[in-house]
Amino acid sequence: MGLDPDCLFCKIARREIPSEVVHEDGTMLAFRDINPQAPTHILIIPKCHVPTLNDLEEQHQTLIGRMFLLAAQLAADEGIAQTGYRCVFNCMGGAGQSVFHIHMHLLGGRPLHWPPG
Ligand code: AMP
Repeated sequence: MGLDPDCLFCKIARREIPSEVVHEDGTMLAFRDINPQAPTHILIIPKCHVPTLNDLEEQHQTLIGRMFLLAAQLAADEGIAQTGYRCVFNCMGGAGQSVFHIHMHLLGGRPLHWPPG
């Protein structure tokens, strides 16, 4: 899967829509959520268009691993590595997915309760 011309996060990855980018490399982008749910709320996306976790294939293994490594790095950068943070993928509407381009929410900087709502 490449780019979807109508996808919001593909447009952000192509810098057609502005965002507060905190990391970019050849395969990924991380930017601050426009409606933050915690003092740190960063979205980590692959630049390639994969709509949901259900669409992941063998070829995406390395990419998904890199997303978690980047989350840990960004948590350290944000100063929340030791206080605690949460990495969340919402999959499909019933779980709260509203943008159909996979993204990891990195949340921290306040106490996070469990279970989530
Ligand atoms: P989800 O509901 O899991 O699909 O998460 C989508 C997230 O994207 C939400 O937390 C939104 O606040 C966030 N979001 C939507 N539009 C933008 C945007 N233009 N820039 C940054 N974050 C966005």
